[in-house]
Amino acid sequence: MDAASHKQAESRETITVSMAVQYLKGVGPARAQIFSRLGVQTVGDLLEYFPRDWLFAPAPIKIGQMRAEQPATILGLVESIDFQEHRRPPIFEAMVADETGVCRIVWFNGGYLRNQVQLGRVIVASGKPNVFKHRLQLTNPKFMMVEEQQEAQPDRHFSGGVYPASGRLTSRQIKGIILPVLDHLDELVDEFYEESYLKEARLIGRKDAFAWIHMPPDEQRLAEAQRRLRYDELFLMQLGLGLRRYRTQHCASATACTCTDEIDSRIRRRFPFLLTEDQNACIAEIVEDMGRSRPMNRLLQGDVGSGKTVVALYAALLAIANRTQVAIMAPTEILASQHFLSIERYLKDSQVRRILITGGLTGKKRREPLAQIQRGEMDIVVGTVALLQKDIEFQHLGLVIIDEQHKFGVHQRAELRKDCAPHCLVMTATPIPRTLAMTAFGDLDVSVIKQCPPGRGEVVTRWVNPKDRPRAYEFIRERLRAKKQAYFVYPRISSVEETSKEIAAATDAWKELSERIFPEFQVALLHGRMPSAEKQRIMTGFRQGTIDVLVSTVVVEVGVDVPNATIMVIESADRFGLAQLHQLRGRIGRGESKSYCLLFAETDNEAARSRLEVMAKTNDGFVIAEQDLRLRGPGELFSARQHGLPDLKIANIIDDYDLLVIARRHAFAIVAQDPTLAQPGHRSIRRALLAKFGDSLGLADVA
Ligand code: ADP
Ligand code: MG
Repeated sequence: MDAASHKQAESRETITVSMAVQYLKGVGPARAQIFSRLGVQTVGDLLEYFPRDWLFAPAPIKIGQMRAEQPATILGLVESIDFQEHRRPPIFEAMVADETGVCRIVWFNGGYLRNQVQLGRVIVASGKPNVFKHRLQLTNPKFMMVEEQQEAQPDRHFSGGVYPASGRLTSRQIKGIILPVLDHLDELVDEFYEESYLKEARLIGRKDAFAWIHMPPDEQRLAEAQRRLRYDELFLMQLGLGLRRYRTQHCASATACTCTDEIDSRIRRRFPFLLTEDQNACIAEIVEDMGRSRPMNRLLQGDVGSGKTVVALYAALLAIANRTQVAIMAPTEILASQHFLSIERYLKDSQVRRILITGGLTGKKRREPLAQIQRGEMDIVVGTVALLQKDIEFQHLGLVIIDEQHKFGVHQRAELRKDCAPHCLVMTATPIPRTLAMTAFGDLDVSVIKQCPPGRGEVVTRWVNPKDRPRAYEFIRERLRAKKQAYFVYPRISSVEETSKEIAAATDAWKELSERIFPEFQVALLHGRMPSAEKQRIMTGFRQGTIDVLVSTVVVEVGVDVPNATIMVIESADRFGLAQLHQLRGRIGRGESKSYCLLFAETDNEAARSRLEVMAKTNDGFVIAEQDLRLRGPGELFSARQHGLPDLKIANIIDDYDLLVIARRHAFAIVAQDPTLAQPGHRSIRRALLAKFGDSLGLADVA
């Protein structure tokens, strides 16, 4: 070894995961900047800069030795190229020669190759030769352009990872930087788990996983490396969630609410029906949570009309039986008053003192009830989140019920954490796919109502082309004559400035419908800019049946309950997301008669068409939620960051669901046993967790 390489070997010995990539061989300030744009700052990041694809190429053979259907790698000079743009599909073609022959290579849709496969350069290509016009050719082979000095050992450079490149740093350059780092895995990578657990979960060692993900000897070992690294990523995420959950549960004590048989039957007597099996199961989970002196943090999910209100009211009455107060919060005033009305129905003649706080209350009318709440003379307080969080003081708040409908938000939960004392039940009508229930909502406990109460009419959904409008109107007229009611909903126009346009559209439609199409019926308009009292008046009219048709912007999506409304027309339905369409449809089908949801839309947009088809096909909220997740991808639906979750680099919560389940169980067991990760055996896990998810999960203060 000469002096220079000695020096290099020495400096290499000091590589650590937290070292900046800039100090690696082959990287300087300029490349470090490019890396930084790729999200790579440290050696640790570099190790996790995983290939997007891998090549497994046999050693090159001469073109003359190729045999049909026998996988082969060839090495040759690009003698001609041709891009046949107008063929379907377009074809990119290269003729490649060595001293024994010429081979045609074609790539379908290969237009992007024009900058890569260049005339006069040397290419290595690997694939299974097929016969075309009596000659062997390679179709869509994996390939790489090589520099002359590499020609001696092309296979070494050719196999292995293909990295997501940037314009100024090619995959091969990245590989050239990563491969030497792999010689230091012993110093860089700690094993997380005990040998016995690795066996049990059929996981390979963490060092092997890093070595093989970058330079897999074969497909089998690549798969094992991927499985291990996906597992680790999911495990660390779940560990973070588990710790966060542990912290919320232990940072404050709540009032333990006992539920005796007497209390139980007194509460149940309030409901004029038997509860469904699902309702009972959810109640059992809630009773168990509330029986503890640590705060409940539970998400209650179920489709619109599945009977969540009853479950929430049970929880409320249980808290009141234990001499505490209850706050019920809704996103809007309409919804808050809906909630108030529906609990009123169940609480007739009861001693429970309840009040609806609205923005309209001022002066003495407001001061008086607030004082009563503070003195503990009110049991249930219903209002909007904004109102109840602002200036209301409770004497002894035992339970907070938040109805988020479909706008569940991390910030709301976060705000509540400031005061951890009350139990907390969050209701949502958006079915959350199981995968997200474990990730974006992974620190909440979840109860689900799947079946709706008995006696619900069928809901038929049709996608209507605008040219069939007249027929649809006639159909609706018949239903209106039979004393049924209808909703017409107009899409939200996204930006704030356009709210007036949205209202204008609904207003025009209202004029058209009331004056020209249904002049013989009462058609009313409802939108968000109306004064509160006016909205109330219209809602009451619709509920009482004096209004036949309600034309609105999407305000109705939040919790209106009118069982006699059996028709819902959604205009420009292609502009709604799946979740929202499903949400809107939940307004009908609440009574016993058959209901109809008519989606008016004309569109060529693939995604929009898929959404409309899904809607016409199924009423199952969970199926729709899973479809939504698939159509949009988890990234968009619940952007990880929006929910305070880290982006995943290698795992995918949909595809790796099985692994997610095991990792979650494992992580939660560790939290239960060592909630500060203080045990020596958990040290490397703890370090990795903080490095990876410390910021995004707010775990900086763990331990
Ligand atoms: P959600 O809040 O989930 O939208 P609600 O609790 O408002 O649903 O219930 C919708 C309707 O179903 C209400 O009219 C309610 O009275 C009725 N309901 C709820 N539970 C039952 C049940 N177990 N049996 C019969 N009807 C029920
Ligand atoms: Mg409800």
